[in-house]
Amino acid sequence: MKTQKSVELYIKAQQHLVGGVNSPVRAFKSVGGSPIFIEKGFGSKIYDVDGNEYIDFVQAYGPMILGHRMPSVEKALKETLNVGYAFGATTELEIQLAEIVCDAFPHMDKVRFVNSGTEAVFSALRLARAYSGKNKIIKFSGCYHGHADSLLVAAGSGVATFCLPDSQGVPVDAVKNTLIAEYNNLDSVKMLVKSFPNDIAGIIIEPIAGNMGVVLPTPEFIAGIQKLACENNILMIVDEVMTGFRSKFGGAQDLINLQADITTFGKIIGGGFPVGAYGARDEIMQKVSPLGEMYQAGTLSGNPMSMSAGLATLKELKKQNPYTQFEKNTTFLEEIFYQSAQKYGVAVQFNRFGSMFTPFFTAKNVTNFKTAQLADTQKFKRFFWAMMEQGVFLPPSQFESWFLSSAMTSTDLQKVANAVDYALYKVAIH
Ligand SMILES: *Cc1c(COP(=O)(O)O)cnc(C)c1O
Repeated sequence: MKTQKSVELYIKAQQHLVGGVNSPVRAFKSVGGSPIFIEKGFGSKIYDVDGNEYIDFVQAYGPMILGHRMPSVEKALKETLNVGYAFGATTELEIQLAEIVCDAFPHMDKVRFVNSGTEAVFSALRLARAYSGKNKIIKFSGCYHGHADSLLVAAGSGVATFCLPDSQGVPVDAVKNTLIAEYNNLDSVKMLVKSFPNDIAGIIIEPIAGNMGVVLPTPEFIAGIQKLACENNILMIVDEVMTGFRSKFGGAQDLINLQADITTFGKIIGGGFPVGAYGARDEIMQKVSPLGEMYQAGTLSGNPMSMSAGLATLKELKKQNPYTQFEKNTTFLEEIFYQSAQKYGVAVQFNRFGSMFTPFFTAKNVTNFKTAQLADTQKFKRFFWAMMEQGVFLPPSQFESWFLSSAMTSTDLQKVANAVDYALYKVAIH
């Protein structure tokens, strides 16, 4: 694996970009070494500036579900580019994307487009408070909902009633209305609901957790929080920024029988361009300005380039319907992982849901943030670099989800299978 040009660019990048990046995970801190700089992508693959080719499991952290440079998406983008790409007035593209998104979510009448998942989530919290007249929000440790102040809270110690900010610069006051419960632990939620009767506006959850690595909720846990929310007039805020359109055409909420009051979006619905959205039934969305008294705005919200990339991506997904194939491909990779792991005596837990999965280097089931953190990050680090050498680009952290794209072929997957076998061998012989 040649790295000279990437190393040079990394040195240069650090001069005027903080840590050489615009989002921390890109700096490769948890796997060490120098991050790769990308020159181009096509289909299932990306190519770095040194000419190395990789099968891409990062996919821009989710949006590129069709692979890179899907012709129908490029065509739509070019058409938009030719007629102008920012007006500050509504275009038909926004109506079309809103329609296709609302159609795919049965309990949602209206959406508002914004520019990132972060923005979608903090607007959704404002809406939950505006609608309910209550203040507090329950969040689960290990779930990530973007970098809004009130959601950057210590996810560490399971159930804590009062919590401290996770980042410098976040005032303690900004998190005083955030309550932390443990994923898959219904009692931790019950306790909070009991402690703050009549002041909990919403429960926010990743329906399939992806930001501590992939962690699945149990059906009992989902049914339990839904019941609690219903009995106590608490809104369910389901954060589908990562999961929306990833494992079915629609939301993970349908697949796990969770009914959202407010849903948040990002990633796939922008097809690789900056986007976010939040949506709910009419009665709730009536609160949002200009219909209601909850203010929320955006200069570039509903931007034509993002709308056309998102719209073309969703249309293509509907046409391809890759979800059954995704399931087969993830099952194939799961088998490969367990076979090779057993062969070399490496402890692995392969958590998967549709086209997203994480192999954790641990012998224990991973069901929440605490058990995820038992994974051996040193093993992951060796595994990561062995995979890179073999031409497979993974998220550079144990606690991220890998994503399949519909552009991956059986040849790609066989290559990945061989790489996994080699990388697990490297992990074992260390
Ligand atoms: C990525 C992500 C966000 C944040 O979205 P940005 O576009 O990075 O601001 C929020 N919630 C979830 C579940 C995510 O995966």
